[in-house]
Amino acid sequence: MNDPVLHIDSLSVDYGYDDNAVHALRDVSLTLHAGEVLGLAGESGCGKSTLAYAATRLLPPPGVITGGEVTFTSTRDDRSLNLLRASDSELRASRWDDTAIVFQGAMNSLNPVYRVGRQLTDMIATHRPKTSRARSRARAVELMDMVGISPDRLDDYPHQLSGGMRQRVMIAMALALEPQVVIMDEPTTALDVVMQRQIVEQIMELRARAGFSVIFITHDMSLLVELADRIAIMYAGRIVEDAPARDIYSAPRHPYTEGLLSSFPPLHGPRRKLGGIPGSPPDLQALPSGCAFAPRCPVAFDACGHERPDLTATVFGDDEPRRRVACLHHRRPLEDLPAHLRRQ
Ligand code: ADP
Ligand code: MG
Repeated sequence: MNDPVLHIDSLSVDYGYDDNAVHALRDVSLTLHAGEVLGLAGESGCGKSTLAYAATRLLPPPGVITGGEVTFTSTRDDRSLNLLRASDSELRASRWDDTAIVFQGAMNSLNPVYRVGRQLTDMIATHRPKTSRARSRARAVELMDMVGISPDRLDDYPHQLSGGMRQRVMIAMALALEPQVVIMDEPTTALDVVMQRQIVEQIMELRARAGFSVIFITHDMSLLVELADRIAIMYAGRIVEDAPARDIYSAPRHPYTEGLLSSFPPLHGPRRKLGGIPGSPPDLQALPSGCAFAPRCPVAFDACGHERPDLTATVFGDDEPRRRVACLHHRRPLEDLPAHLRRQ
Protein backbone atom coordinates (compact mmCIF):
# COMPACT_ATOMS: atom_id res chain seq x y z
CA MET A 1 0.00 0.00 0.00
CA ASN A 2 1.10 3.59 -0.56
CA ASP A 3 2.50 5.82 2.14
CA PRO A 4 0.19 7.54 4.58
CA VAL A 5 -0.45 11.16 3.68
CA LEU A 6 -2.90 12.03 6.44
CA HIS A 7 -2.87 10.10 9.68
CA ILE A 8 -5.54 10.73 12.29
CA ASP A 9 -4.72 9.14 15.62
CA SER A 10 -7.20 8.78 18.51
CA LEU A 11 -8.95 12.05 17.75
CA SER A 12 -11.68 13.05 20.21
CA VAL A 13 -13.96 16.08 20.05
CA ASP A 14 -16.59 17.42 22.43
CA TYR A 15 -19.06 20.23 21.86
CA GLY A 16 -19.29 22.06 25.15
CA TYR A 17 -17.85 21.15 28.53
CA ASP A 18 -18.37 18.89 31.52
CA ASP A 19 -21.85 17.49 32.02
CA ASN A 20 -23.16 19.31 28.98
CA ALA A 21 -20.50 17.96 26.63
CA VAL A 22 -21.69 16.27 23.46
CA HIS A 23 -19.08 13.59 22.67
CA ALA A 24 -19.13 14.03 18.93
CA LEU A 25 -15.89 12.16 18.14
CA ARG A 26 -14.35 9.49 20.27
CA ASP A 27 -10.93 8.01 19.69
CA VAL A 28 -11.07 8.10 15.93
CA SER A 29 -8.03 6.70 14.13
CA LEU A 30 -7.93 6.69 10.37
CA THR A 31 -5.21 6.80 7.74
CA LEU A 32 -5.48 8.22 4.25
CA HIS A 33 -2.85 6.77 1.92
CA ALA A 34 -1.35 8.55 -1.06
CA GLY A 35 -3.58 8.34 -4.14
CA GLU A 36 -6.44 6.75 -2.23
CA VAL A 37 -10.12 7.71 -2.19
CA LEU A 38 -11.29 7.07 1.34
CA GLY A 39 -15.04 7.19 1.83
CA LEU A 40 -16.49 8.16 5.18
CA ALA A 41 -20.10 7.19 5.70
CA GLY A 42 -22.70 7.11 8.44
CA GLU A 43 -26.07 8.56 9.31
CA SER A 44 -26.52 12.28 9.78
CA GLY A 45 -25.16 13.40 13.16
CA CYS A 46 -22.56 10.61 13.53
CA GLY A 47 -19.63 13.04 13.44
CA LYS A 48 -18.44 13.08 9.82
CA SER A 49 -18.23 16.86 9.47
CA THR A 50 -16.77 17.15 12.96
CA LEU A 51 -13.97 14.81 11.88
CA ALA A 52 -13.28 16.88 8.75
CA TYR A 53 -13.22 20.14 10.69
CA ALA A 54 -11.18 18.85 13.62
CA ALA A 55 -8.60 17.14 11.42
CA THR A 56 -7.97 20.40 9.57
CA ARG A 57 -8.13 22.57 12.71
CA LEU A 58 -11.21 24.37 11.46
CA LEU A 59 -13.52 23.24 14.23
CA PRO A 60 -15.73 26.16 15.30
CA PRO A 61 -16.60 26.70 18.99
CA PRO A 62 -18.12 25.22 21.08
CA GLY A 63 -16.16 22.32 19.51
CA VAL A 64 -13.09 21.34 21.52
CA ILE A 65 -10.47 18.79 20.50
CA THR A 66 -9.95 16.79 23.69
CA GLY A 67 -7.27 14.44 22.45
CA GLY A 68 -5.42 12.95 19.53
CA GLU A 69 -2.95 13.80 16.81
CA VAL A 70 -3.27 14.53 13.12
CA THR A 71 -0.19 14.27 10.94
CA PHE A 72 0.16 15.36 7.36
CA THR A 73 3.13 13.79 5.57
CA SER A 74 4.01 15.23 2.21
CA THR A 75 4.59 12.76 -0.58
CA ARG A 76 6.43 15.38 -2.63
CA ASP A 77 9.17 16.18 -0.13
CA ASP A 78 10.01 14.86 3.32
CA ARG A 79 7.98 17.46 5.14
CA SER A 80 5.61 16.40 7.85
CA LEU A 81 3.29 18.57 9.96
CA ASN A 82 1.48 17.85 13.19
CA LEU A 83 -1.70 19.73 12.35
CA LEU A 84 -3.01 19.92 15.90
CA ARG A 85 0.20 21.46 17.22
CA ALA A 86 1.16 23.60 14.24
CA SER A 87 1.38 27.36 14.71
CA ASP A 88 -1.14 29.64 13.01
CA SER A 89 1.36 30.60 10.33
CA GLU A 90 2.26 26.96 9.64
CA LEU A 91 -1.43 26.20 9.34
CA ARG A 92 -2.09 29.10 7.02
CA ALA A 93 0.73 27.94 4.78
CA SER A 94 -0.52 24.38 4.78
CA ARG A 95 -4.23 25.03 4.27
CA TRP A 96 -5.33 24.88 0.59
CA ASP A 97 -1.72 24.07 -0.30
CA ASP A 98 -1.33 20.66 1.36
CA THR A 99 -4.88 19.95 2.40
CA ALA A 100 -7.98 21.56 0.92
CA ILE A 101 -11.53 21.07 2.07
CA VAL A 102 -14.83 21.49 0.28
CA PHE A 103 -17.35 22.10 3.01
CA GLN A 104 -20.83 20.74 3.28
CA GLY A 105 -23.01 23.37 1.60
CA ALA A 106 -19.89 25.03 0.17
CA MET A 107 -21.85 26.47 -2.73
CA ASN A 108 -23.20 29.01 -0.29
CA SER A 109 -19.78 30.05 0.91
CA LEU A 110 -18.74 32.11 -2.11
CA ASN A 111 -18.72 35.81 -1.34
CA PRO A 112 -21.87 37.25 -2.97
CA VAL A 113 -20.33 40.65 -3.68
CA TYR A 114 -17.33 39.55 -5.76
CA ARG A 115 -17.24 37.99 -9.20
CA VAL A 116 -16.22 34.31 -9.04
CA GLY A 117 -13.09 34.92 -11.12
CA ARG A 118 -11.84 37.46 -8.62
CA GLN A 119 -12.46 35.03 -5.77
CA LEU A 120 -10.30 32.45 -7.52
CA THR A 121 -7.50 34.85 -8.41
CA ASP A 122 -7.53 36.42 -4.91
CA MET A 123 -7.02 33.06 -3.30
CA ILE A 124 -4.18 32.23 -5.69
CA ALA A 125 -2.61 35.64 -5.02
CA THR A 126 -2.82 35.12 -1.25
CA HIS A 127 -0.99 31.81 -1.37
CA ARG A 128 1.32 32.47 -4.29
CA PRO A 129 2.12 36.18 -3.96
CA LYS A 130 4.70 36.00 -6.72
CA THR A 131 2.16 34.92 -9.33
CA SER A 132 1.40 37.67 -11.86
CA ARG A 133 -2.20 38.78 -12.36
CA ALA A 134 -2.17 37.39 -15.86
CA ARG A 135 -0.90 34.03 -14.65
CA SER A 136 -3.55 33.86 -11.87
CA ARG A 137 -6.24 34.68 -14.39
CA ALA A 138 -4.96 32.00 -16.75
CA ARG A 139 -5.00 29.51 -13.90
CA ALA A 140 -8.59 30.54 -13.05
CA VAL A 141 -9.59 29.89 -16.67
CA GLU A 142 -7.86 26.52 -16.54
CA LEU A 143 -9.62 25.60 -13.28
CA MET A 144 -13.07 26.55 -14.59
CA ASP A 145 -12.39 24.48 -17.63
CA MET A 146 -11.30 21.58 -15.44
CA VAL A 147 -14.59 21.54 -13.56
CA GLY A 148 -16.57 21.89 -16.77
CA ILE A 149 -17.71 25.51 -16.56
CA SER A 150 -17.22 27.91 -19.43
CA PRO A 151 -14.50 30.41 -18.49
CA ASP A 152 -16.89 33.23 -19.56
CA ARG A 153 -18.61 32.64 -16.28
CA LEU A 154 -15.59 33.97 -14.38
CA ASP A 155 -17.14 37.41 -14.68
CA ASP A 156 -20.40 36.29 -13.12
CA TYR A 157 -21.42 36.93 -9.55
CA PRO A 158 -22.23 33.81 -7.54
CA HIS A 159 -25.99 34.40 -7.75
CA GLN A 160 -25.78 34.22 -11.54
CA LEU A 161 -24.58 30.61 -11.36
CA SER A 162 -26.68 27.55 -10.63
CA GLY A 163 -26.12 25.64 -7.38
CA GLY A 164 -24.23 22.93 -9.23
CA MET A 165 -21.93 25.47 -10.85
CA ARG A 166 -21.21 27.21 -7.56
CA GLN A 167 -20.39 23.86 -6.03
CA ARG A 168 -17.99 23.19 -8.90
CA VAL A 169 -16.37 26.59 -8.41
CA MET A 170 -15.70 25.58 -4.82
CA ILE A 171 -14.15 22.33 -6.02
CA ALA A 172 -12.02 24.34 -8.46
CA MET A 173 -10.94 26.54 -5.59
CA ALA A 174 -9.99 23.52 -3.50
CA LEU A 175 -7.87 22.18 -6.36
CA ALA A 176 -6.33 25.54 -7.30
CA LEU A 177 -3.01 25.03 -5.52
CA GLU A 178 -2.72 21.34 -6.36
CA PRO A 179 -3.12 20.08 -2.80
CA GLN A 180 -2.12 16.54 -1.88
CA VAL A 181 -5.23 15.90 0.20
CA VAL A 182 -8.76 17.01 -0.66
CA ILE A 183 -11.51 16.52 1.89
CA MET A 184 -15.00 16.74 0.44
CA ASP A 185 -17.85 16.92 2.89
CA GLU A 186 -21.09 15.90 1.17
CA PRO A 187 -19.98 17.78 -1.95
CA THR A 188 -23.00 16.70 -3.96
CA THR A 189 -25.72 16.20 -1.39
CA ALA A 190 -27.62 19.40 -2.17
CA LEU A 191 -27.65 18.70 -5.91
CA ASP A 192 -29.94 16.69 -8.13
CA VAL A 193 -28.91 13.19 -9.09
CA VAL A 194 -27.73 14.05 -12.61
CA MET A 195 -25.56 16.91 -11.33
CA GLN A 196 -24.25 14.68 -8.52
CA ARG A 197 -23.10 12.10 -10.98
CA GLN A 198 -21.48 14.69 -13.23
CA ILE A 199 -19.57 16.23 -10.36
CA VAL A 200 -18.45 12.90 -8.94
CA GLU A 201 -17.21 11.82 -12.37
CA GLN A 202 -15.33 15.07 -12.70
CA ILE A 203 -13.71 14.70 -9.30
CA MET A 204 -12.57 11.19 -10.16
CA GLU A 205 -11.20 12.29 -13.50
CA LEU A 206 -9.33 15.18 -11.90
CA ARG A 207 -7.91 12.86 -9.29
CA ALA A 208 -6.68 10.49 -11.96
CA ARG A 209 -4.90 13.41 -13.62
CA ALA A 210 -3.62 15.34 -10.60
CA GLY A 211 -3.07 12.38 -8.28
CA PHE A 212 -4.36 13.85 -5.02
CA SER A 213 -5.84 11.74 -2.23
CA VAL A 214 -9.46 12.21 -1.23
CA ILE A 215 -11.57 11.82 1.87
CA PHE A 216 -15.10 11.74 0.47
CA ILE A 217 -17.79 12.18 3.09
CA THR A 218 -21.36 11.21 2.40
CA HIS A 219 -24.30 9.40 3.95
CA ASP A 220 -24.92 7.82 0.53
CA MET A 221 -23.38 4.36 0.54
CA SER A 222 -24.28 3.60 -3.06
CA LEU A 223 -22.14 6.53 -4.18
CA LEU A 224 -19.17 5.40 -2.11
CA VAL A 225 -19.30 1.82 -3.20
CA GLU A 226 -18.68 3.12 -6.70
CA LEU A 227 -16.01 5.68 -6.13
CA ALA A 228 -14.06 4.83 -2.97
CA ASP A 229 -11.08 2.53 -2.65
CA ARG A 230 -11.73 2.11 1.03
CA ILE A 231 -14.71 2.94 3.22
CA ALA A 232 -14.82 3.84 6.90
CA ILE A 233 -18.19 3.62 8.60
CA MET A 234 -18.97 5.91 11.54
CA TYR A 235 -21.54 5.48 14.23
CA ALA A 236 -22.08 7.77 17.22
CA GLY A 237 -18.67 9.41 16.92
CA ARG A 238 -16.61 6.28 16.37
CA ILE A 239 -15.37 4.34 13.38
CA VAL A 240 -17.07 0.94 13.52
CA GLU A 241 -15.71 -0.61 10.35
CA ASP A 242 -12.92 0.24 7.90
CA ALA A 243 -12.19 -1.93 4.89
CA PRO A 244 -11.64 -1.95 1.12
CA ALA A 245 -14.84 -0.76 -0.57
CA ARG A 246 -15.50 -4.05 -2.35
CA ASP A 247 -15.22 -5.99 0.93
CA ILE A 248 -17.57 -3.60 2.71
CA TYR A 249 -20.04 -4.11 -0.07
CA SER A 250 -19.73 -7.84 -0.62
CA ALA A 251 -19.30 -8.87 2.99
CA PRO A 252 -20.10 -6.19 5.59
CA ARG A 253 -18.88 -7.35 9.01
CA HIS A 254 -20.49 -4.81 11.28
CA PRO A 255 -24.27 -5.11 11.69
CA TYR A 256 -24.49 -1.33 11.30
CA THR A 257 -22.64 -1.45 7.97
CA GLU A 258 -25.08 -4.10 6.90
CA GLY A 259 -28.00 -1.90 7.88
CA LEU A 260 -26.55 1.09 6.03
CA LEU A 261 -26.06 -0.93 2.87
CA SER A 262 -29.62 -2.16 3.03
CA SER A 263 -30.83 1.45 3.24
CA PHE A 264 -29.63 2.26 -0.26
CA PRO A 265 -30.53 0.66 -3.54
CA PRO A 266 -27.34 -0.65 -5.20
CA LEU A 267 -26.43 0.85 -8.54
CA HIS A 268 -24.91 -2.34 -9.84
CA GLY A 269 -24.75 -5.97 -8.91
CA PRO A 270 -27.27 -8.10 -7.16
CA ARG A 271 -30.29 -6.42 -5.66
CA ARG A 272 -30.45 -6.27 -1.90
CA LYS A 273 -33.54 -6.29 0.18
CA LEU A 274 -34.02 -2.70 1.28
CA GLY A 275 -34.57 -2.58 4.99
CA GLY A 276 -32.95 0.40 6.60
CA ILE A 277 -32.20 0.49 10.30
CA PRO A 278 -34.99 0.75 12.81
CA GLY A 279 -34.57 3.13 15.74
CA SER A 280 -32.40 6.21 15.90
CA PRO A 281 -28.80 7.02 16.84
CA PRO A 282 -28.06 7.46 20.56
CA ASP A 283 -27.90 10.73 22.45
CA LEU A 284 -24.22 11.70 22.33
CA GLN A 285 -24.52 13.29 25.77
CA ALA A 286 -25.64 10.03 27.35
CA LEU A 287 -24.14 7.13 25.46
CA PRO A 288 -24.92 3.56 26.44
CA SER A 289 -22.06 1.90 28.33
CA GLY A 290 -21.45 -0.93 25.89
CA CYS A 291 -21.61 -0.82 22.09
CA ALA A 292 -23.44 2.35 21.03
CA PHE A 293 -25.24 0.41 18.30
CA ALA A 294 -26.44 -2.38 20.61
CA PRO A 295 -29.94 -0.93 21.22
CA ARG A 296 -30.63 -1.03 17.45
CA CYS A 297 -28.62 -4.10 16.62
CA PRO A 298 -30.53 -7.13 15.38
CA VAL A 299 -27.79 -9.51 16.57
CA ALA A 300 -26.74 -7.93 19.89
CA PHE A 301 -26.07 -10.37 22.72
CA ASP A 302 -25.55 -9.88 26.47
CA ALA A 303 -21.99 -8.55 26.39
CA CYS A 304 -22.89 -5.82 23.87
CA GLY A 305 -24.88 -4.02 26.57
CA HIS A 306 -21.87 -3.43 28.81
CA GLU A 307 -18.65 -4.12 26.91
CA ARG A 308 -17.42 -1.65 24.32
CA PRO A 309 -15.75 -3.28 21.32
CA ASP A 310 -12.43 -1.83 20.11
CA LEU A 311 -11.79 -1.23 16.47
CA THR A 312 -9.37 -4.01 15.63
CA ALA A 313 -8.76 -6.69 13.09
CA THR A 314 -9.31 -10.03 14.78
CA VAL A 315 -10.90 -13.14 13.35
CA PHE A 316 -10.23 -11.99 9.82
CA GLY A 317 -6.54 -12.37 10.56
CA ASP A 318 -4.21 -12.63 7.63
CA ASP A 319 -6.97 -12.98 5.11
CA GLU A 320 -8.26 -9.47 5.69
CA PRO A 321 -5.35 -7.52 7.08
CA ARG A 322 -6.82 -4.28 5.82
CA ARG A 323 -10.13 -4.62 7.58
CA ARG A 324 -10.95 -3.31 11.03
CA VAL A 325 -14.25 -3.83 12.77
CA ALA A 326 -15.61 -2.86 16.18
CA CYS A 327 -18.14 -5.55 17.02
CA LEU A 328 -18.08 -8.12 19.82
CA HIS A 329 -19.50 -10.76 17.51
CA HIS A 330 -16.21 -10.82 15.74
CA ARG A 331 -14.37 -11.59 18.96
CA ARG A 332 -16.29 -14.83 19.21
CA PRO A 333 -15.44 -18.12 17.52
CA LEU A 334 -16.40 -17.98 13.87
CA GLU A 335 -19.02 -20.71 14.23
CA ASP A 336 -20.92 -18.55 16.76
CA LEU A 337 -21.29 -15.67 14.31
CA PRO A 338 -24.71 -15.07 12.78
CA ALA A 339 -24.50 -16.60 9.31
CA HIS A 340 -24.97 -13.38 7.36
CA LEU A 341 -21.99 -11.74 9.07
CA ARG A 342 -19.81 -14.75 8.33
CA ARG A 343 -20.54 -14.61 4.62
CA GLN A 344 -17.49 -14.60 2.40
P1 ADP B 1 -22.48 14.62 10.47
O1 ADP B 1 -21.59 15.48 9.65
O2 ADP B 1 -22.09 13.18 10.47
O3 ADP B 1 -23.92 14.77 10.13
P2 ADP B 1 -21.69 16.38 12.62
O4 ADP B 1 -20.22 16.22 12.70
O5 ADP B 1 -22.21 17.60 11.97
O6 ADP B 1 -22.34 15.06 12.01
O7 ADP B 1 -22.27 16.34 14.09
C1 ADP B 1 -21.90 15.34 15.03
C2 ADP B 1 -22.65 15.53 16.32
O8 ADP B 1 -22.19 16.70 16.97
C3 ADP B 1 -24.14 15.68 16.10
O9 ADP B 1 -24.82 14.82 16.98
C4 ADP B 1 -24.44 17.11 16.43
O10 ADP B 1 -25.65 17.23 17.09
C5 ADP B 1 -23.29 17.52 17.32
N1 ADP B 1 -22.92 18.93 17.04
C6 ADP B 1 -22.46 19.44 15.89
N2 ADP B 1 -22.23 20.76 15.99
C7 ADP B 1 -22.57 21.08 17.24
C8 ADP B 1 -22.59 22.29 18.00
N3 ADP B 1 -22.19 23.44 17.44
N4 ADP B 1 -23.01 22.25 19.27
C9 ADP B 1 -23.40 21.09 19.84
N5 ADP B 1 -23.42 19.92 19.20
C10 ADP B 1 -23.02 19.90 17.94
MG1 MG C 1 -22.03 16.70 8.06
